[in-house]
Parts: sequence; structure tokens; C-alpha cells
Amino acid sequence: MIELLTKKLLNTNLEDPDLLLGTERYKSNKILPEANVIKIGGQSFMDRGRKAVFPLIEEIKENLPKHQMIIGTGAGTRARHAYSVGIDMGMPTGVLGLLGTFVSIQNAKMIHYLLADHGIPYIEPGGFSQLPLYLKERNAAIFFGMPPYTYWQRNPEIGKIPPYRTDTGCYLISETYGTKNMIYIKDEKGLYTNDPKKDKNAKFIPKITAGELMERDLDDVVVERSVIEMMTSAKNGRQIQIINGMEKGNLTKALNGEHVGTIITSN
Ligand code: ADP
Ligand code: MG
Repeated sequence: MIELLTKKLLNTNLEDPDLLLGTERYKSNKILPEANVIKIGGQSFMDRGRKAVFPLIEEIKENLPKHQMIIGTGAGTRARHAYSVGIDMGMPTGVLGLLGTFVSIQNAKMIHYLLADHGIPYIEPGGFSQLPLYLKERNAAIFFGMPPYTYWQRNPEIGKIPPYRTDTGCYLISETYGTKNMIYIKDEKGLYTNDPKKDKNAKFIPKITAGELMERDLDDVVVERSVIEMMTSAKNGRQIQIINGMEKGNLTKALNGEHVGTIITSN
């Protein structure tokens, strides 16, 4: 089989459907199957300051002996400000992506220093090869959630805002490493039929598939739409969970495999 695939890979157009099907023969390894990727929201969470963040930090510390956590950070209101100034100055999407990256670094640095007394490291993309060691040694690491596309960020279909932001960056880490779970910590119970801050009649959706969600074509959703799209072709990252981090105990429940908040599955 290897010989056949090698021969094909060397000699066939890399977009040939038969060749591509052949690459599916073996499942992707789950490299860090015990780890959980946790995304701490930017606008929805970090920007609320100590009232939101300190109890969550305590809950993370309580769970450190029991669960491995790869903690990514969002960007939030400061990134929106940077985007608006950047757009005013005529900056292209790739540069806006860079600006957003710096804000998610700011948030990662703060989470890092809040967990410094537990020896939790902060890593940048070049440092991901140390991640398995840090998880074995300390059970956690912090990273900035923005995917490192920076100047290579693709243009969105409409407008200029980078379409792959921190929800997507965190999701892709869970997909690549085959982690146990991808947990988004936000300020709402989970996914509703509309933004509950704007629509009092919005109904809570405890469980849905990515396909159903795309079909429903809701006006607004709780995670970046690119995550939902990517989930339809997921190899490992076949489930995400969105929880309200403002309620103490939800993170612990999610880490213990309980259904709190909304669970979105690939199919
Ligand atoms: P983050 O801070 O992680 O980037 P966002 O602020 O971008 O998170 O997204 C979370 C917010 O999305 C929630 O605070 C909520 O007000 C809003 N939202 C929009 N549409 C929905 C929906 N259909 N269900 C739940 N929340 C929604
Ligand atoms: Mg967001």
C-alpha cells in the first residue's frame, strides 16, 4: 500500500480525487487525546475583568491535578478598536490579522501571569513542540488563540475582517492534536436561536450538528462561523462545547464530560 501511495503521490496531480481518497486510508493520530483545549473568550469574558476572570482562574487551578488543559485566549474589544483604526488607515486583511494577534497575545500574557504561581508556561506557535512535555509536567499551557496566519490570512467573502480568528485558532489546535474536548468559555449558556443579548425570545439549543446549524442559517451564532464550516470536514475535532464561564462549576462539569451548555457535533 505504501508503495502504491508513494508512486501515486510522486506522479499524480495532488488534487486528483483518487489519490486524495487514498490518503484517507489511515485515521489521523490522536496526538494528545487526554488534553482539553479551552478557549477563554475575549469580548465575552476577558474584557469583563477580574469579576469574570478570577473565579475562572481558581476553577482552572482546582482542575489542574485532574485534567490537562491547553488554554487559548480570545482578543475582544481592543481588537475591534484596532480593526476600526486599521480599516480607517486602509490596512488590508492580513495586517488586520496581525493587529488582532497582538491583542490575543495581551490576553494570553495576563492569563499566563495569573497562573504563573502554578508554573504554567506561555507558548507561541514556534514553541508548540514543547507542548507534550509541558502537559506531562504541569498539566497546562497557555497560547494566544489567533491562528498565526497574520499576513497570510485570506480575505473574507465580504469586507475586510479576518475570517479566521481566535475561536478558529483554538479549534484547529484541538483538531490537529486530537484532544478530548474543545471547550469555549463565553458569557452565555451556549448557543441560542439568536443572540440572547439582543433577542429576548431566543431559544436555547442544547445540542446540534454542524450541518443542521449551517442549514438553519441563524442571523448570529456564538462561535465563529468558520469553526462550524471546518467541523463538517473534521478528522479529529468532531465536537465542541460552549459553556457559560460566569457560572462557577461549569468548566469542571465540562472537563468531567458532563453536558453543560451547548454541544455541537460534526454529524
Ligand atoms: P469571544 O469573546 O469568545 O470572541 P464573542 O463575543 O465573539 O465571543 O461571541 C460570544 C457572544 O456571541 C455571546 O456573548 C453572545 O452575546 C453572542 N451571540 C451571538 N449570537 C448568538 C447565539 N445565536 N447564541 C448565543 N450567543 C450568541
Ligand atoms: Mg469572537
